[in-house]
Amino acid sequence: MVIPMEVYEGKAKKVIPLDDDKVILEFKDDATAFDGKKKAQFKGKGWLNAQISALLFKVLEESGVKTHFIGVAGDNRLIVERLRMYPLEVVVRNVVAGSLKKRLPLEEGTELPEPIVELYYKDDGLGDPMINRYHAKVLGIGEDEVREMERIALKVNEVLRKYFAERGIILVDFKLEFGRNKRGEIVLGDEISPDTCRFWDAETRESLDKDVFRFDKGDLISAYERLYERLTGETPNRR
Ligand code: 5GP
Repeated sequence: MVIPMEVYEGKAKKVIPLDDDKVILEFKDDATAFDGKKKAQFKGKGWLNAQISALLFKVLEESGVKTHFIGVAGDNRLIVERLRMYPLEVVVRNVVAGSLKKRLPLEEGTELPEPIVELYYKDDGLGDPMINRYHAKVLGIGEDEVREMERIALKVNEVLRKYFAERGIILVDFKLEFGRNKRGEIVLGDEISPDTCRFWDAETRESLDKDVFRFDKGDLISAYERLYERLTGETPNRR
């Protein structure tokens, strides 16, 4: 997807053009799961996801990962670099959960000996199928580009896994999206939030992410607020 010149509304975010180089990402309170079959709204989710994404992009930038993050622009909005997005989801996994249980004969919660990286083609009509480098090539995405996205994804994993472990949280798995900027560099885009990652409390193994909504495990906002508190040491001051 090319980030459009007009407002683009996705399931959980809006992309609002600012100028030739920048767009605003507006995080909505809407939540969807299972290809949009399950839907709800949670007051305050947009704010929490915007703030958590901003914080994690800053952590990554400080560790030398190039991201699209420029700044926070109000409650639930980020200013980001305009990118030409790849129609790919790059998933990294450290612990068995979610759809990996359908691929490997391993029990939920098993720690993987090394991270697994997976590629998915972003296409609602096809249900975001898992693809490999050969499929990517047919889609016009070269091997070097895939390799670079995988390299950055593993670096993101290294940085964030340690960051979360220091705060008593297991980074189980997460999804990233990438794009190219004006200079042709491959840059991390989209969001990194409890909507796009699995976070488990290291002691209790409770979910602090969207699985709370997917599998009716409790109150989504309290889970996201607990995550926010663990990361910032602060109680969220607005919803
Ligand atoms: P799984 O393949 O197990 O369903 O998802 C793996 C990880 O990637 C989870 O952390 C999940 O939240 C994230 N993920 C995968 N696909 C999507 C997607 O289409 N939207 C969002 N928000 N997250 C996704």
